[in-house]
Amino acid sequence: MSSLVIDSFIELPQAVLDVLDEGQPIFHRVIVDPSTPATAEDAQPTPTTTTTGSSSTLIITNVEKIHSSDHTSVYSAKLDLPNNDELADVVLKISNAGGPRNDALWREYQRYEDLAKFQGTVIPRCYGLFQAILAEEDEEEEPDVVSCLVLAYGGEASAVELNRNSREFSLSIIKALENLHDAGFTHGGLHPNNILNKQGTAVLIDLEFVRGDHKCDRAASVGTNGLESKTGDFGCSEIYSVARKMDLWKKSGPS
Ligand SMILES: [Zn+2]
Repeated sequence: MSSLVIDSFIELPQAVLDVLDEGQPIFHRVIVDPSTPATAEDAQPTPTTTTTGSSSTLIITNVEKIHSSDHTSVYSAKLDLPNNDELADVVLKISNAGGPRNDALWREYQRYEDLAKFQGTVIPRCYGLFQAILAEEDEEEEPDVVSCLVLAYGGEASAVELNRNSREFSLSIIKALENLHDAGFTHGGLHPNNILNKQGTAVLIDLEFVRGDHKCDRAASVGTNGLESKTGDFGCSEIYSVARKMDLWKKSGPS
């Protein structure tokens, strides 16, 4: 259930292509047919429909590198959406590690699809995953790809330690987690770096480790009844542990 299918390509600025050092790869949108869940065995690399004309291309401008690690670079940028006068603030995650269906961005993109109903609230809107196939030397092997995940700008960085946010914002983080948990998902890697502050509301990112097999048995909402509790009693280790790191137990409520 891709939330936004308006095009087939993305056009990255020369500065990004230069960093990739892969010539002029063509970035096709990855299309996922929701009726046939892709697996490593049956997925074929990106048979996208090809359309022509400027309205079929997402154009990225104003890129600035935020940070990079071994295989992934993160940029802020502007996205020129067809039929939209204003440029959208976006974040690009670009990786060149792995094949079309086994790299980290592919996995993260799947989580954005799984969590489609939370896009724009608990998690950023996802504009899609785009991949450029670099070489097909051997039909038996998966070709190398460069992947580019395009996400809406999620917000400002949150405090560097979980216990340094305001209580109000901490509760917003818990609220976001509770929303995910009630839908059966855990974040799986919650850390200050993947919590953004959008005008006081928490937005969760870095969804690579999201799992969808959670049955939340938490005993209480931390916001309304944040009593000291042992993990076993509380019934949900992820929320308990995050609330503990935020010192929510100690500060909450009159005893
Ligand atoms: Zn839970």
